[in-house]
Amino acid sequence: MPDHDVLIVGAGPVGLLLACLLVQDGMRVEVCERRTHADDRTRAIGIHRPGLEALDTAGIGTAVRAEALRLEGGEVRSRRRSLAS
Ligand SMILES: Cc1cc2nc3c(=O)[nH]c(=O)nc-3n(C[C@H](O)[C@H](O)[C@H](O)COP(=O)(O)OP(=O)(O)OC[C@H]3O[C@@H](n4cnc5c(N)ncnc54)[C@H](O)[C@@H]3O)c2cc1C
Repeated sequence: MPDHDVLIVGAGPVGLLLACLLVQDGMRVEVCERRTHADDRTRAIGIHRPGLEALDTAGIGTAVRAEALRLEGGEVRSRRRSLAS
């Protein structure tokens, strides 16, 4: 008999957020990750509003904002042309 209700394969942002939300709902969750150490490349250039709202739902949005630099805008450029802002 497993000691969890849900098994999540992959401890990326999606798996970890899902685990947080399920635990808040009273589920027993196990997360399996094949990597044995953290990736040393950053993937934290920016978190958009829907992502922040999801982190708020998980109860960690305030802690994330406290460590973050708030940006009011941004621009995507290619070959000296602005593609989006
Ligand atoms: C260089 C780079 C920069 C980025 N910058 C940003 C950014 O600034 N802002 C942003 O919002 N997004 C950014 N992204 C995108 C963001 O990283 C992805 O959208 C996000 O990681 C996807 O999350 P995920 O949980 O779906 O997948 P992943 O992050 O890929 O996580 C999946 C996990 O599952 C594990 N796994 C897979 N198969 C198995 C298995 N069979 N058994 C056990 N474990 C398994 C993998 O090892 C991995 O850890 C960036 C991506 C890259 C590559």
